[in-house]
Amino acid sequence: MEARLIDGNALATTIRGELAERTAALQARGIAPGLAVILVGDDPASGVYVRNKTAACEKIGMRSLQFAYAADTDPAIVFARIAELNADPTVHGILVQLPLPKHFDSDAILEAIAVDKDVDGFHAENIGALAQGKPRFIPCTPYGVMKMLESAGTPIRGAEAVIIGRSNIVGKPMALLLINHGATVTVCHSQTRDLAFHTRRADILVAAVGRPKMITGDMVKPGATLIDVGINRLPDGKLCGDIDFDSAKKVGAAITPVPGGVGPMTITMLLANTLEAAERAAAKETK
Ligand code: NDP
Repeated sequence: MEARLIDGNALATTIRGELAERTAALQARGIAPGLAVILVGDDPASGVYVRNKTAACEKIGMRSLQFAYAADTDPAIVFARIAELNADPTVHGILVQLPLPKHFDSDAILEAIAVDKDVDGFHAENIGALAQGKPRFIPCTPYGVMKMLESAGTPIRGAEAVIIGRSNIVGKPMALLLINHGATVTVCHSQTRDLAFHTRRADILVAAVGRPKMITGDMVKPGATLIDVGINRLPDGKLCGDIDFDSAKKVGAAITPVPGGVGPMTITMLLANTLEAAERAAAKETK
């Protein structure tokens, strides 16, 4: 039997419908949830991501502001903009699109964002809160993955979860979330000696590497839930994930496609975090 498809587009549509209702409810109270997105440089992929994020905001009735800077911009200008947005009560979420040009200190930029507007969840304080099991903003991609596991009915408590990739934006927060939910977690990376040994033990396998089709069906445990975070462009222009979909779907019980899997969920959870920030700000005001 072939693995069930975990349809990220369908789940994203359902969640965005709920978010649109909550946005309308806030607006009825005179509060317009707003996300500010800062883009530095002319990386085409980053440009597409920013456009998709602002379009998704507008589609659910959320306000979006865009600030675009040339690649050679003085970081002081971006710091000043962040300070301004931190102080602006009509802005509830602030996001700086990564990667930044080399002359920027990305960590310093992320730390400059107010903790209660850090809707990407990358601020060290927010990562710390997640590590302590008291998350305030969960990084959007791992957050989306958790929603997908929930929708697929995949048991997490006691499960062997294997994550491939240890980046600050996907692999590490993914590991923290799965630990917090009771999985036994292994994190693999480029120094891992025998990758297949680990992947074959995984009830939940999350691939977040950026290498086309590197996980093949023979590396998958029968009945596993397979989550493919990777986005890779093939020479023919088509997108594919890190998991070889055709061979893996014959072994796993559930699998996310690329495109149409984790990608739409990442943007959805950004909207959810922004709305959450606006709702928290509104609750503070009425206290
Ligand atoms: P990074 O490049 O920051 O991290 C990649 C990770 O993969 C690293 O930890 C690296 O190990 C590890 N790795 C590299 N080669 C191997 C290997 N041969 N075996 C095992 N591990 C390996 O990437 P990101 O975390 O930012 O993104 C990962 C992928 O997910 C990319 O394709 C990206 O485009 C995609 N992505 C998709 C999103 C979505 O919404 N669907 C959102 C964010 C990312 P080491 O640390 O040792 O170098």
